[in-house]
Amino acid sequence: MKRVYNFSAGPAVLPEEVLKEAAAEMLDYRGTGMSVMEMSHRSKTFAGIIQTAEQDLRDLLAIPDNYKVLFLQGGASTQFAMIPMNLMRRKKADYIITGQWAKKAWQEAQKYGKANVAASSEDKTFSYIPDLSNLAISEDADYVYICENNTIYGTKFKTLPDTKGKPLVADVSSCFLSEPVDVTKYGILYGGAQKNIGPAGVTIVIIREDLITEEVLPGTPTMLRYKTHADAGSLYNTPPAYGIYICGKVFRWLKNLGGLEEMKKRNEEKAKILYDYLDSSSLFHGTVKKKDRSLMNVPFVTGDKDLDARFIQEAEASGLVNLKGHRSVGGMRASIYNAMPREGVETLVDFMKKYEKEIL
Ligand code: PMP
Repeated sequence: MKRVYNFSAGPAVLPEEVLKEAAAEMLDYRGTGMSVMEMSHRSKTFAGIIQTAEQDLRDLLAIPDNYKVLFLQGGASTQFAMIPMNLMRRKKADYIITGQWAKKAWQEAQKYGKANVAASSEDKTFSYIPDLSNLAISEDADYVYICENNTIYGTKFKTLPDTKGKPLVADVSSCFLSEPVDVTKYGILYGGAQKNIGPAGVTIVIIREDLITEEVLPGTPTMLRYKTHADAGSLYNTPPAYGIYICGKVFRWLKNLGGLEEMKKRNEEKAKILYDYLDSSSLFHGTVKKKDRSLMNVPFVTGDKDLDARFIQEAEASGLVNLKGHRSVGGMRASIYNAMPREGVETLVDFMKKYEKEIL
């Protein structure tokens, strides 16, 4: 067996320790004689798994008691509708458009009310985060929406916008648990698990309790009401049980390595190795404004499509896989999530140096 360095944007690399543990527990989870996949979600054993996972996540992010943690399904994309359906009581929200995912969320919200654009970076292919110093926030906005880390373009909000008292809703799919955050600054933070946390199929929503009410838009299905899931402790119906179990193992892995401060330190070190090289290279260069660079997704190009394609192909043959950029941007993108070891980034940079020498 040989594992590759997997730079996929998601589903993405998971910690090897977690995969090994899951493999060891596959046929007989701790004396139950069955795998977690085969187990009732109403069993005592599964109750232990989901409660421990939630507590570990609460510990990692220091989630205050007035926030609920929901383990849902439907991916981040289902939240694009669920957020306005549950929050747009005055039928108005402000969106900051920093990429395709924010744009999709904004387009979806227009089905339910007035979704304004408070700022956008579309004029320069989303290669920067717009100026947040004086946003035009609507007086009667129900919430302000951001996509905090832009997976496709490789930008990240380094400061949060001043929402002028409105609840901040953030899609953190591609920066979840990559560094500490102050949960109290958000009304909702949410993301699909398949980048930094676990398998696809689990969506984690952390939501302030006062935003969970019965007053949802008329016609909102039971399954799309936050209250349904909050009241039932994420067990209203069958949850993505195996996925939650793996997420729980990743939370424990993070705790054991020292929590999010330590994770942030490691992520900064890893990203610096790659960005420093990009800044010094005569062949490769980064595509976004330096101050807005993501620690998780690093897009880069040579400026020549054929050289890009050859690079991706040769890298793949050397065990550095999934480096192709998103189809809307082209070039390359290295996603270096929590579980990507430092050696993976070092190996990539060594390979890039070798390629540069060959070409120039
Ligand atoms: N938001 C962001 C920031 C993403 O990167 C993605 C997926 N790449 C999505 C939303 C959509 O997620 P899902 O496929 O879980 O609906």
